[in-house]
Amino acid sequence: MIVKYNYFFLNGIGFVYIVAFGQVEKRLLLAVASSIKRNFSVDVRHSSVVTLPPVKYSLHREECPVSLFLDYMEGLHFPNMLRIVGLVDVCLRDEERTIWGKGVTGGRSVVVSVPLLKTYDEKVFFERVCKESVRQLGMSFGLPPCEKKNCVMYVPSSLQELDQQGTDLCPLCKERWVN
Ligand SMILES: [Zn+2]
Repeated sequence: MIVKYNYFFLNGIGFVYIVAFGQVEKRLLLAVASSIKRNFSVDVRHSSVVTLPPVKYSLHREECPVSLFLDYMEGLHFPNMLRIVGLVDVCLRDEERTIWGKGVTGGRSVVVSVPLLKTYDEKVFFERVCKESVRQLGMSFGLPPCEKKNCVMYVPSSLQELDQQGTDLCPLCKERWVN
């Protein structure tokens, strides 16, 4: 059976949980929480306590396989938790590719790397993490990539493109989400 996730399906029945792995500022967690809430109209909770990292975490300080976090988060269960978004303070790789984040359609866990998106301008930095988190979460909810460059569901191919795109769903994606 294919379950279609949208606003009416999710509203009031559960929440998105945001957790930090390592040294991630609480203000950044709050910014991502508010961005997710604004775009998807779902309840969001966050953990300001630094989550204990997976056992092998310390062995891969430079670049961690993304599966390490996704597998770990798949094992975390809370009643009514719809999705779990992990913000991590290490660079991530998926097989041999360096990635900013990963969310799988229909999957429960989303992971975003904070250091790769860092820049001296804090506003730009926070927006990058918010955009990447919202897009990966959107994909996990089944929203397809968007062709509009200013939409948060557009798949950017560079940090420059990421900086040019907006922080919110375009009207078409919003409609896809609500219906
Ligand atoms: Zn769109």
